[in-house]
Amino acid sequence: MSIDATTYQFPPAPVLTAPTGQASTLEAREISAWFGDHQVLDRVSLTMEARQVTALIGPSGCGKSTFLRILNRMHELIASASLAGDVLLDGVDIYGLDKKLTEARRHIGMVFQKPNPFPTMSIYDNVLAGLKLTGTRKDQSEKDEIVQSCLLKAGLWNEVQSRLRQPGGALSGGQQQRLCIARALAIQPRVLLMDEPCSALDPTSTRRIETTIEELRTEVTIVIVTHNMQQAQRVSDYTAFFLAEQGEPGYIIEHGPTDAMFDAPQDTRTRDYVHGRFG
Ligand code: ADP
Ligand code: MG
Repeated sequence: MSIDATTYQFPPAPVLTAPTGQASTLEAREISAWFGDHQVLDRVSLTMEARQVTALIGPSGCGKSTFLRILNRMHELIASASLAGDVLLDGVDIYGLDKKLTEARRHIGMVFQKPNPFPTMSIYDNVLAGLKLTGTRKDQSEKDEIVQSCLLKAGLWNEVQSRLRQPGGALSGGQQQRLCIARALAIQPRVLLMDEPCSALDPTSTRRIETTIEELRTEVTIVIVTHNMQQAQRVSDYTAFFLAEQGEPGYIIEHGPTDAMFDAPQDTRTRDYVHGRFG
């Protein structure tokens, strides 16, 4: 069979072309945090490079979740909470005087430990829920396109395409977590923060989320808190080890390329932690 170049039509592209996000570098400079007069983080500095996956590891209570909440301005919603230091998104201070909280949220999305879709809202509307909150207006075909492309990116489309009107709460735990990832992606964040996103999931769902992280890394900067050392090694390029010693505030003991952190850590506490000797 010969193909006539003048009449040949390319088949339609299989994946819709909703605009993709623009990954950014997020830099934390000398971040300290308090609840009342209890200091929980002490001068934490960390650069989370664009299009890389950074894993945050360390025992419970060393301030990893607090650090994540500071990175997208959720910390300040807690009445007793205060902080010091700077967070720069591609060099721009997200806490700058002229910067709104909603702007930080718009660019820096978050996925939590416990999947939290709106349970009675449809799968379709769940994906769009964040857009509504940011006040972005879209027509029907744009909405359809966003829903499909975000569910594709989150690795959930094949499982839900025939039942988009069913409630989000009807999905399994692993599917709900991927729905939350799709919802976070719909606002085209530059950074996606994930706080132990797999710790409530079974191993199969966990691996599915890890595949999703692998697929997303080219378009969004990912910061993931995990207690699973194998997961940190599988998904991350860089790792930071947090520790809070005997009632002291948490800080970073050591950070660097993940391979080096696991194979040749500089600090004996890092070595003991990554080998499961404590925490
Ligand atoms: P991690 O995520 O590493 O387990 P967290 O950031 O959750 O650590 O907690 C760090 C410290 O801050 C802990 O001592 C914890 O008890 C305290 N903390 C966390 N959230 C609050 C809060 N809302 N009010 C008071 N203290 C808190
Ligand atoms: Mg935590």
